[in-house]
Amino acid sequence: MKKIIAVDGPAGAGKSTVSKIVAARLGYTYIDTGSMYRAVALKVLLTGKNVDDAIKDVDIKLDANGKIFLDGRDVTKEIRTPEVSRGASDVAKFGVVREKLTQLQREMAAQGKVIMDGRDIGTQVLPDADLKIFLTASVEERARRRFLELKEKNFAADFEQIKKEISLRDKQDSERKIAPLAQAEDAVLLDSTKLTIEEVVAEILRLAA
Ligand code: C5P
Repeated sequence: MKKIIAVDGPAGAGKSTVSKIVAARLGYTYIDTGSMYRAVALKVLLTGKNVDDAIKDVDIKLDANGKIFLDGRDVTKEIRTPEVSRGASDVAKFGVVREKLTQLQREMAAQGKVIMDGRDIGTQVLPDADLKIFLTASVEERARRRFLELKEKNFAADFEQIKKEISLRDKQDSERKIAPLAQAEDAVLLDSTKLTIEEVVAEILRLAA
């Protein structure tokens, strides 16, 4: 059984949904690295500090129930707004932010039996991961899923706006200088456009066995 699984891919490809299920089936810990970039962005938005100062004394903790704590406060819901999504992609360009979070992520993965998702896990954070997945889907399909998810939660949602924001974030994440979104050479490419969640999960479990 593969002990460390890295899942990367663009926004809304289903990384966290499938990673959570795979983690539960294998009895692994799921680590959502995007939530950590989101927490840093939230700190910048709330305090008005510049990125260098905000990252210096930041305290980020993920618990076993998927909750995230920023400086001791539960911010699990707060980090899911479109404003924080944009902010996360902005702070993710900074070397100081990436260094700090990468180090934290490596410490969290050190005990093994983890599945970690993000943008640079297979390429930078855990280059020796036992299994690397690059999960993608068409931008139309990713926007459609995000749209339905927001609708379900009774949030206002505009399909074209969501599609625009996803495309912009992908572009920014793929074109940044440090640790851009990229498929590792030894990653398995999974296109989930026409697959169900269960089909993607089954394929990852097969590859992890
Ligand atoms: O995965 P999620 O959409 O929550 O990530 C939010 C943002 O955090 C991404 O758009 C990306 O800019 C950044 N991120 C990153 N590296 C990671 C995970 C997320 O740069 N490993």
